[in-house]
Amino acid sequence: MKQARSSAIGYPRIGEKREWKKALERYWKKDTTEQELVEELTALRHKDWKKQKEAGLDLIPVGDFSYYDHVLDTSIMFGIIPKRFQDTEPTSLETYFNIARGTESAVASSMTKWFNTNYHYIVPEIEKDTKPVLLENRPLRYYKEAKEQLGIDGKPVLLGPVTYLKLAKGFDKQPFEQVLQTLVPLYIQVLQELAAEGAAWVQIDEPILVTDLSEKDLRFVQSVYDTISKEVSGIKLLLQTYFEAVEAYDSVIQLPVDGIGLDFVDNNGQTLSQLAEHGFPNDKVLAAGVINGRNIWRNDWKHTWQITDAVRKIVPEDRLILQPSTSLLHVPVTTESETKLASDLKQVLAFADQKLEETVLLTKGVNQGKAIILPEVEKHSRNWRSFADSEGRSNENVQQEVKRWKDKHPSRASEFSNRKKVQEEKFALPLLPTTTIGSLPQTTEIRKARANFRKGAWSEETYDAFVKERTAEWIANQEEVGLDVLVHGEFERNDMVEYFGEKLNGFAFTEYAWVQSYGSRCVKPPIIFGDVSLPAPMTVKESAYAQSLTNKPVKGMLTGPITILNWSFVREDIPFAEVTEQIALALQKEIRALEDAGIGMIQVDEPALREGLPLKSNKQATYLDQSVRAFLLATAAAADETQIHTHMCYSEFGRIIATIDKLDADVISIETARSHGELIEAFETFAYDKGIGLGVYDIHSPRIPSVEEMEQSIRRALKVLDPRQFWINPDCGLKTRGIKETLASLHHMQQAAQNIREQQKTTILQ
Ligand code: GLN
Ligand code: ZN
Repeated sequence: MKQARSSAIGYPRIGEKREWKKALERYWKKDTTEQELVEELTALRHKDWKKQKEAGLDLIPVGDFSYYDHVLDTSIMFGIIPKRFQDTEPTSLETYFNIARGTESAVASSMTKWFNTNYHYIVPEIEKDTKPVLLENRPLRYYKEAKEQLGIDGKPVLLGPVTYLKLAKGFDKQPFEQVLQTLVPLYIQVLQELAAEGAAWVQIDEPILVTDLSEKDLRFVQSVYDTISKEVSGIKLLLQTYFEAVEAYDSVIQLPVDGIGLDFVDNNGQTLSQLAEHGFPNDKVLAAGVINGRNIWRNDWKHTWQITDAVRKIVPEDRLILQPSTSLLHVPVTTESETKLASDLKQVLAFADQKLEETVLLTKGVNQGKAIILPEVEKHSRNWRSFADSEGRSNENVQQEVKRWKDKHPSRASEFSNRKKVQEEKFALPLLPTTTIGSLPQTTEIRKARANFRKGAWSEETYDAFVKERTAEWIANQEEVGLDVLVHGEFERNDMVEYFGEKLNGFAFTEYAWVQSYGSRCVKPPIIFGDVSLPAPMTVKESAYAQSLTNKPVKGMLTGPITILNWSFVREDIPFAEVTEQIALALQKEIRALEDAGIGMIQVDEPALREGLPLKSNKQATYLDQSVRAFLLATAAAADETQIHTHMCYSEFGRIIATIDKLDADVISIETARSHGELIEAFETFAYDKGIGLGVYDIHSPRIPSVEEMEQSIRRALKVLDPRQFWINPDCGLKTRGIKETLASLHHMQQAAQNIREQQKTTILQ
């Protein structure tokens, strides 16, 4: 009798100790050759395949691996290469990294968040004469590699044509339909070649199917898969979705493919209800994502078993694949690397490798009977019980404080127009004030100093003195450039969430639980496991010191409640909104402490606000309301004369401007440089009256932009925004940049500001 099989949608590419990141960065610094890079990454990929095989996975994904981003891989594969990068060999690593990172003469392609995750993909650009061609069959290359070198008959993974193009931009230059039509035959060729090579299943990712698609888009989906299924034979197509329940369940399950992958986790049971209500075709395989692929908690066996049981009532084992709900790209690699976590906590954690174990065990349970998994189920409840009672889980005072705020609406004492007057008097800034987003170059020296301090090799005094020196140096640098509002530089911070988590109660930290954010950049989200509270001020010392060195205002720098939540791994026993409010109340106290220490401007960063936006429109309003409430809970108690700033980046903000407005921050800075000013259009229709800085240059690339370029971007913004509300700043923090390029860019920025100021003066005089 045929039995249920286990699989995974994708596996982390960064390695247990970020070997991937390190190899890439050594290569970019020219410390290694291309061949060395390829060898290192091949070895890593092989190790990961072997691990999945040893875990006992029946279907192992191949081709989900990438040198930077799988959307960019897809672009290269189909020759969708922006013209400005066409002077080098199209399939070379050089071209590949040029598109991702930019060159002296060509700005990098935009980068934006992959659905509602913190993973960023490189946005494909469709130009007037873009004509897709198949430059190379990447999944085939990986499929053959796994088979020939490791004897693994993998499941090639492809990003589906509809999702790929939906994520692209440039359809004002060529209609979507036209590009899709040229792309489909290339997909067919890729699939035929895979079939010829003997691949049994291929996974085609179409996560776009969980978003609200129009009727027209659904017709595209239908016709694409009609064509593909007619032309391709000898290989089974698994259409994979994730991150939510699919929208048009009825039509999706009828698409002419051999299997459908659905997410049974990320949607409060919606997929299960759809399945129960509409059934599932009896000629198709169901790949059921029942193990949470995005959280880091051990699977709740009772719950998972219930779901799996319900699924089996409709789809029998012989047509069932069990797997994590999403690619494991969004979770760290393994809990085994962690040596310092409290054991109560460690026992209830599951990263990618543990999730694979759970998947395999669950599949065994399904095939051989529940008795197989019973010891695990018992162990699980035992572990959770001891974790529930463990230290730091529960804080009565915090819970009471959240309750006291329950029916109150936090708001600033006066409305913006009044605050504006008070603040203008207090700060007396010039027209178009210049500033930066907070962090300044984190050199190797600084990283080493922090590491020395952590290891205990440096005493607190030595370390503090070092941080002070850097701060003083950069206060002087900023004054020399002529910036109007300064920052202390964030040299003491490793990461904008981790830093706060370490100072707050309720957070735990790992050593190696990294996940990829963009390119080689990884983040290590803390774990919010208990009630959050503030034991002592977190940022006052550094901010007050920086302020003592200058007469110009120095912004206090905090990470906002929504970002702290979205960039942490969060407990799931209380609602996320409640955790956010706990964090907000802690930040409220921090802001008071900063005010007491004489800090007049405080920036509360919310770069992750947009990414947490639910994919389904009917869930968005609640999320946005909760976010506004949390932000105000943190900031609204500030005095009128305290100027609250906020900062957001990496996303499309056009649709949430109304929410941004409700945050009631006196000044906001938003990243725009990399999306080439698209956000500006949104301000044509939305009357935004508060202070605003639209990043005038891209900090994600080492390129030094010219004064002229920045002037242009300022002028473009001033077409829709009033010069009296406009601020001039780079589009994000500068910590990833070198000292030289930063100073050069900031000088150019200041010069651009001065030039525009001069012009504005004459315009105003005329
Ligand atoms: N203040 C932070 C910094 O400059 C903001 C970072 C971010 O937006 N991601 O690093
Ligand atoms: Zn930013």
